[in-house]
Amino acid sequence: MSAASESSRRRRLAWCVAVTILGVSMSACGLFGRSSSGNDEPDWTALRERMVTTQIAARGVRDPAVLQAMRTVPRHEFVPESVQREAYADNPLPIGDGQTISQPYIVALMTELLEVDKGDRVLEIGTGSGYQAAVLAAMGIEVYTIEIRPTLCRHAGETLARLGYKNAHVRCGDGYGGWPDKAPFDGIVVTAAPERIPDPLLEQLKQGGHMVIPVGAFYQELKVITRTADGFSERSAVPVRFVPMTGEIERRQ
Ligand code: SAH
Repeated sequence: MSAASESSRRRRLAWCVAVTILGVSMSACGLFGRSSSGNDEPDWTALRERMVTTQIAARGVRDPAVLQAMRTVPRHEFVPESVQREAYADNPLPIGDGQTISQPYIVALMTELLEVDKGDRVLEIGTGSGYQAAVLAAMGIEVYTIEIRPTLCRHAGETLARLGYKNAHVRCGDGYGGWPDKAPFDGIVVTAAPERIPDPLLEQLKQGGHMVIPVGAFYQELKVITRTADGFSERSAVPVRFVPMTGEIERRQ
């Protein structure tokens, strides 16, 4: 691409960021349509950059490692082809089997609330598409993720392997009991909502570590549970709407 067309592309992107804040639709921005390579692939990098600026940083997510991971992980590879062009929009999307991938901002917020660093170990319950696991893996975290629905589980495992996220380990089954042989974890993220937090997950959290989990039935709160020297502390971050946790938890609540 020539310097002139690069600078006009940058100007167009800056304009797009501005108009998106005003609520104008993405299609008006020309980020879809012909790319410099002459095919019809959208400019995924530009769409991601705009997602980070207008949806995530603009709402207060600051952790540079989280913002960088959100800039690099190809979210469009984790959603069905029919909704690929909406992958960077400000909403959740269907991933099949009646399940959803969370809105980008919620993924970024939950990742930031975990307060984990490169080299840490994180347990995720509810692999879904594998996107949240990929964001953590891109930050250099060793991710252990469990998915109860066999089709989603297999598909997520294939996507993560194809994209080279070697530090994301996928297990198919009920996440109620956690992953005891890899415990304790520096952080635990749960992306399906139980009405009550499963005890085995609390037991597998390291002292000083955080669990980020939506709790409730219809009305849910995103909670951050911290393991302290003498127990657990709890705070609510934001109201959320996740699919329900299923399996063993339904027999216990
Ligand atoms: N984190 C996912 C989104 C998850 S949607 C992503 O990035 O795409 C919630 C997922 O939790 C669904 O796929 C659902 O099947 C799964 N789930 C529900 N109950 C579960 C359980 N007990 N154990 C493991 N996974 C569960």
